[in-house]
Amino acid sequence: MTRDGQREATRRHRAPKPPKHLADLTPGERDLWAEDLGLPRMRARQVARHYFARLEREAAAMTDLPAEGREQLVARLLPELLTEVTRRTADGGATIKALYRLFDSAALETVLMGYPGRVTLCVSSQAGCAMACPFCATGRDGLRRNLSSAEMVEQARLAAALTAGGGLGPDVPRRLSNVVFMGMGEPLANYRAVMTAVRAMTAPAPAGLGLSARNLTISTCGLTPGIDRLAGEGLAVRLALSLHAPDDEARDRLVPINRRYGVQATIAAAHRYFQATGRRVSIEYALIRDVNDQAWRASLLAERLLQYGRGWVHVNPIPLNPVPGSIWTASRPAAQEEFRRRLEMAGLTVTMRDTRGQEIDGACGQLAAREVDN
Ligand code: SF4
Repeated sequence: MTRDGQREATRRHRAPKPPKHLADLTPGERDLWAEDLGLPRMRARQVARHYFARLEREAAAMTDLPAEGREQLVARLLPELLTEVTRRTADGGATIKALYRLFDSAALETVLMGYPGRVTLCVSSQAGCAMACPFCATGRDGLRRNLSSAEMVEQARLAAALTAGGGLGPDVPRRLSNVVFMGMGEPLANYRAVMTAVRAMTAPAPAGLGLSARNLTISTCGLTPGIDRLAGEGLAVRLALSLHAPDDEARDRLVPINRRYGVQATIAAAHRYFQATGRRVSIEYALIRDVNDQAWRASLLAERLLQYGRGWVHVNPIPLNPVPGSIWTASRPAAQEEFRRRLEMAGLTVTMRDTRGQEIDGACGQLAAREVDN
């Protein structure tokens, strides 16, 4: 292990852990936890039903639990993990960005986006991020700590409850349908907790939130061993790869992990993911003026993706949402158009992303407030 790695491991070891929560556990582990607390196993299942199926964590609403000790029981199994600090809305109320404070005063952001046919939540997987992409607000401050599984599930439960209550307005379905791990953090750097959260989100209610795995997207900046590990999980989740450049020279600068896992190795891992799962991979590409938006880079991107054929990949360019004070800014419209044209002419499927929530500052610095095709 490098000295930096040792320092990081020591710091994480010392970081206080969030309180244990029902959503950190599998259904079998929940039963055992109830037993350890001297409770009948059915108590864990009753509380899980309220939490996952009814999206409820208020003890007063759980009238099927014995009145005596109910508050303490719920506080023990469902401790408060996220405290809302601010909420900002855009798009006529159909986009909501929320900032939450965690038990140790760390913060995370979510963005909830309602559309006529679906509702998508962008969740955070870490408080901060160690990947240090220079154009990203989250990357500037480094990693504070990994989030627990329950801290991720709770982001989704709160969003699902808000959606079910009609909080996104009349033109939006009342069911959270999609979750994208594109908020703060690199999900594959918090692998085990993210997998547990994915399983709790996709288990049918009342064991979990009952979301379809096909409607979950894990976004990575290119941790190739994590991509291969994910491919072996037998999950139908979509993979989004934040590529941002087709050549090592630009990508080394934009996504520093590229110095370890270069462009070709990263694209190869993404293609292996497609082969293993049959799920088309999304390539995310933030268009940054005069840095990665040249027409020749569009052609090189097409060449490198198409070396594995068509149909396995979908490209999502998005104009950069600039971080205040940053030297990086969005591409000019003409450059965006030419970039898209070159990709399409080469035979790739391309969706130019809208920048939902940009006026409320997106999330994850840059990369959160957008939608992934289904
Ligand atoms: S862009 Fe994503 S991976 Fe890069 S620093 Fe920001 S949060 Fe981390």
